[in-house]
Amino acid sequence: MTRPRLLVLSLGGTITMTAADPAAGAGITPTLGAADLVAAVPGLGEVAQIEARSPQRLPSASLGLDHVVAVAQEIRAGFAQGFDGAIVIQGTDTLEETAFALDLLLREEQPVVVTGAMRGAQAPGAEGPANLLTAAIVAASAEARGLGALAVLNDEIHAARLVRKAHSALASAFVSDNGGPLGVVAEGRARLLTRVGRIGLPAFAPAAANPNAALPPVALLKMAMGDDGRLLRAVPGLGYAGLVLEGMGAGHVPADLAEDVGTIAAALPVVLASRTLAGPVFERTYGYAGSEIDLIARGLVPAGFLTGPKARLLLTLALASGWDAAAIRAAFAAYG
Ligand code: ASP
Repeated sequence: MTRPRLLVLSLGGTITMTAADPAAGAGITPTLGAADLVAAVPGLGEVAQIEARSPQRLPSASLGLDHVVAVAQEIRAGFAQGFDGAIVIQGTDTLEETAFALDLLLREEQPVVVTGAMRGAQAPGAEGPANLLTAAIVAASAEARGLGALAVLNDEIHAARLVRKAHSALASAFVSDNGGPLGVVAEGRARLLTRVGRIGLPAFAPAAANPNAALPPVALLKMAMGDDGRLLRAVPGLGYAGLVLEGMGAGHVPADLAEDVGTIAAALPVVLASRTLAGPVFERTYGYAGSEIDLIARGLVPAGFLTGPKARLLLTLALASGWDAAAIRAAFAAYG
């Protein structure tokens, strides 16, 4: 039987990190490429035929959406050439953002799986090889087709729109607050307990519209008790094309800031997410100044279940694709 063909693209992250002299206490940095990682996984060759490429060797805090757009283009070209699935390897710090951006950018049926590791390649109990093997099992499986981008770590399969890094240290760092993981990998097989439908957004065309244009800058601002609004009021003067506001609770800001928020929303798109990270932004419950009803009446767009970082990616790609206010509102409504 011919094995599925998988395209493996490594961007860096702890899974690729080593220290020249671990005993000397030097910190780890990205050194390994995709071919090194693939070679370290016994049994991977039985799961799939792998083509390993290393477009970046970065800590994931240094990845940008432009890197992910380039990866999406490489994956799309790979699928057109006959690859049956793709794996993106990267740092866990921004893994949920890459997975969500790929979910938005790629509409093909073939599985796209993002993975990484919490422990460096030389650490006792390094879980990179296990994560790469389970990622390959999922990416090569027929069951994972049509689910959009997935994150596979710690034997769990997460949907891109739900997954979030929720711990700075544990191998079990990834959770899907709203709904749980879609399934697990056990005994070498992807077992899906539930499935997510694709969200029917119009196609994004950030590069096609103008390949040389920088992606529009979108600010992300978290509200906190007693915030006096000076950062908020600075946003329009800093050249941002949009703003995502992480409000308190179901999407609230201090009453004193409501007018400023409305003034900004009259000038640029402002999306309202929740800093709680789980549950939807409300739309029709609270009626005080600074509540979600007040802010939506002032022009803010509720982000539904999307976290602030994911809402920022959706707004960036929408603005890069020239979507108008109605299209932006409809896109966020689809996540509500
Ligand atoms: N700091 C690392 C990174 O995101 C963390 C990891 O990969 O687990 O690149």
